[in-house]
Amino acid sequence: MVACSQCRSTVPRSDTVFSNQGDLLCSRCGAFDAAHAQVERGRAAAYESAGRNRGALGLIIGAVERAAADKQAGQLHSELLGVAYSGAGPQAQSATVPCSRCQTVVLRGETTLSMEGDPMCRSCAAGYDPVAEQKRLEGSLIVGILMGAFLPIIGIGLAYGLKRKPAEKKGAVGGTVFIFVLLYFCWPLLLGK
Ligand SMILES: [Zn+2]
Ligand SMILES: [Zn+2]
Repeated sequence: MVACSQCRSTVPRSDTVFSNQGDLLCSRCGAFDAAHAQVERGRAAAYESAGRNRGALGLIIGAVERAAADKQAGQLHSELLGVAYSGAGPQAQSATVPCSRCQTVVLRGETTLSMEGDPMCRSCAAGYDPVAEQKRLEGSLIVGILMGAFLPIIGIGLAYGLKRKPAEKKGAVGGTVFIFVLLYFCWPLLLGK
C-alpha cells in the first residue's frame, strides 16, 4: 500500500499512476491530473493559433485571443477543482456515445470525430463535408467587421463574451481598429479645420 501524494489516501500500488511531475497519485487524483493537463494542452493550442496572426492587427488579435484562452483555462481548472472537492470523479468514458448529429447511440469505437471533436456515427460521418464544416466553424469575417465597426469595443466584448465564431472575433477587432483609425484621421475634417 502507498499514499497518494495529493489526497493522502492509501491505495494499492497497482491503483496508482505518476503525474507529469513524477508524483505518485491514486487513480482518482490521476484522472483529475490528466484532465488538468488536457486543459493546459487546450491553452497551448489556443496560444499557438493566436501566434499565427500576422501584422500589427495580428498582435492585437493575438493578445485578445491569449487573454480569452487564459480566462477559459482558468475557468476549466476551477471547475475541475470544484468537482474534485465535491467528491465526484471526472466523467468516466462510457463505451457507447450518442452521435452528435442524429443522436443515435453507437459504440464509441465506431465513431469518427468531427472537427469540433464531437463523435459522429458512420452514416453521418459519410455525409460529413469538412470544407463546409470549416466555413461554418470559422464564421463570417464580414459579420465580425460590422459588429466591430458599428459597436467599437462593445462589438469585441460581444464577440468574445458570447463565444462567437473565430472569424467574427477577428472581424470585430478589425472593425473596431478600423473605426478608430478612421476617427483619428478624420477628426480634423469633422471639426471643420
Ligand atoms: Zn489521491
Ligand atoms: Zn449520426
